[in-house]
Amino acid sequence: MSESNLETNGIEVLLLGSAQDGGVPQAGCYCTTCMGARRDPAQRRMVVSLALIDHAAQASWLIDATPDFPTQLAMLTAHAPACPLAGVLLTHAHIGHYTGLINLGREVMNTQALPVYVTAAMAAFLITNGPWSQLVATSNIALRPLMPGTPTPISAGLTITPVAVPHRAEYSDTMAYLVRGPQRTFFFCPDIDRWDQWDENLVTFLSPVDVALLDGTFYSNTELPGRNMAEIPHPPVTETAKRLAGASCSVGFIHLNHSNPLLRDGPERDWLAARGMWIGSAGMSWFLHR
Ligand SMILES: [Zn+2]
Ligand SMILES: [Zn+2]
Ligand SMILES: [Zn+2]
Repeated sequence: MSESNLETNGIEVLLLGSAQDGGVPQAGCYCTTCMGARRDPAQRRMVVSLALIDHAAQASWLIDATPDFPTQLAMLTAHAPACPLAGVLLTHAHIGHYTGLINLGREVMNTQALPVYVTAAMAAFLITNGPWSQLVATSNIALRPLMPGTPTPISAGLTITPVAVPHRAEYSDTMAYLVRGPQRTFFFCPDIDRWDQWDENLVTFLSPVDVALLDGTFYSNTELPGRNMAEIPHPPVTETAKRLAGASCSVGFIHLNHSNPLLRDGPERDWLAARGMWIGSAGMSWFLHR
């Protein structure tokens, strides 16, 4: 199929950011990476968000509404001008993943019943806490219930399945998303505490998946001296990469913390590249075909 056909009919996935909730540079941080990113805009990284685009249906969706939502929506619009935002899917109620919803209210976009796909726990959080409750009360957003594990069509060419994953549940449960297009399947998992605490076996789960974007918050368990890593558990990239050695699916890492050495050229990037894996960057896109 030609590229122009895909741009008219294809199902596309577009990565709009790749950093952990605080982005890069992170507020109040003067580490080498954050200082470098303040000097050089090319080194900045927006918080992770994924756009799903159905070119035939002329519609797009965002998985997660981040603090970088204004820039990310502009990027999506520039990439697919014929596909306006038709909804938002949320993973969980940590600040990097939903606070961009503020832009949907009366003060900014004043959207009319924009569908926001959420689990029951996430819906309860939004309904019972301001300012999110106001978005519901004024019908700027219309909450659409999702059942973990249940495939849900959002357009003729796109089916999403929320997949429950273990993650610090202060305010909500946490979902990863399986995204099925007509011919290819994509997995998006920005936050998980431990692969071993998950109901699924990672290798088996990914065997029918073509591309996976996985939690790459930390490269190793020793990169945050002075912080108790048990309070902010994430599977280190080194462990995940070893676990997935020989996997058939293409594996990229997202949700990178500002401390992650993969943000800079160096031996850690070489180590990952030698395993055929990569780190996600805003602007990367994949067609799931039609
Ligand atoms: Zn996060
Ligand atoms: Zn920093
Ligand atoms: Zn989180």
